[in-house]
Amino acid sequence: MSSLAVLHASELVTLSGPKRPRFGAELSEVGIVRDGGMLVRDGKIQKVGSSDEIKKNLGDAEIVDARGRVVMPGFVDAHTHLVFAGDRLDDFERRARGETYEQISKAGGGIWSTVEKTRAASESDLLAQAKRHANWFLRCGTTTVEAKSGYGLTVEDELKILRVLRQLKKEVPLEIVPTFLGAHAVPRGLSPDEYLDVVVMEMLPRVTAENLAEFCDVFCERGYFDIDQSRKILSAAKKLGLSLRGHVDQLTNSGGAKLMAEIGATTADHLEQTDGQRIAALKKANVQPVLLPGSVYALGSSGYPRAREMIEAGLAVVLATDFNPGSSPTPSMPMVLSLACTQMKMSPAEAITASTLNAAYSLNRGDKIGSLEPGKLANFVMFDCEDYRELAYWFGIPQTHSVYVTGQRIVEL
Ligand SMILES: [Zn+2]
Repeated sequence: MSSLAVLHASELVTLSGPKRPRFGAELSEVGIVRDGGMLVRDGKIQKVGSSDEIKKNLGDAEIVDARGRVVMPGFVDAHTHLVFAGDRLDDFERRARGETYEQISKAGGGIWSTVEKTRAASESDLLAQAKRHANWFLRCGTTTVEAKSGYGLTVEDELKILRVLRQLKKEVPLEIVPTFLGAHAVPRGLSPDEYLDVVVMEMLPRVTAENLAEFCDVFCERGYFDIDQSRKILSAAKKLGLSLRGHVDQLTNSGGAKLMAEIGATTADHLEQTDGQRIAALKKANVQPVLLPGSVYALGSSGYPRAREMIEAGLAVVLATDFNPGSSPTPSMPMVLSLACTQMKMSPAEAITASTLNAAYSLNRGDKIGSLEPGKLANFVMFDCEDYRELAYWFGIPQTHSVYVTGQRIVEL
């Protein structure tokens, strides 16, 4: 039995409460214990309370002095594209010079350039780059990520990405939840309907037979997969036992959020263009919105999703990075907290709940992670600040002091 006692945290942010996602005003209740302590045994949280209470039962526990620091659950990033080859630095510079997406695409940029590099990369090259990304997440205080395929767009290349994720999970302490996103874009040389057949008839059966994904996602947007095509893909995935997520209403209010509600998806992601009527549909169907302000920021746009309206409508809002080389090159959840507060008018407490507990529920892991409560995994982070609001306030400066996964301190930060 190995045990650990965290003592004297200036704030222990527990997120304790009912065993379900937080809605509306509940998003503000982060369950702070001042001079807080926590007892960890065999990777799990055994007791949480004041340091005085924790000290009563120390036994042979190793002491971790958290004086002057905030201790909170590791961030749960519920939307990332973690595996890809190369970067999109040239696109970035072209965009900065004012070029449009069409111009960038003509110059050989855009998603297609990442697809070509990812196809050309070997499994071990992709794994090496993915490890680098995984380490970035840990350094930012994230201990669980959802990660999608989607830069392969052939049967073998999509499977390759998902296998890299499976291997990555074995080699890094970051917990990874894999999502199949074969329908990320239509590959050159095929019509959307032809490619849809490949996704449904060839990719999905292989992905589920090899048990390579927990979720299926689709890029539902004009020029990618329309509502009917998205419905076909997600229905097929559901029949095979996968849970559902969707990239919807990012560029146009095309009815994607409504489809997510109809089909019983776990999450509807992006939602930059979603209006009040569709917000009500998400509420009725209990779909969690996953908001991605990093991509709005990095694309130089100001069209952030209506977080306040969603919280007021009673949705269990989630925040995520959308880490990807094209539109959101950040693994930093603190950066996302800053954007949520300054651009979407969420409070720091709401943003913390959305990026920990609510995110954990959106990955079907609300019973294991996302809060510091007895019985949950001891996945937690110590930050070099005394007030949790500082995480959203000081931006562009790393405040991570140390990261623990199942009670083990991650050393290679
Ligand atoms: Zn995405």
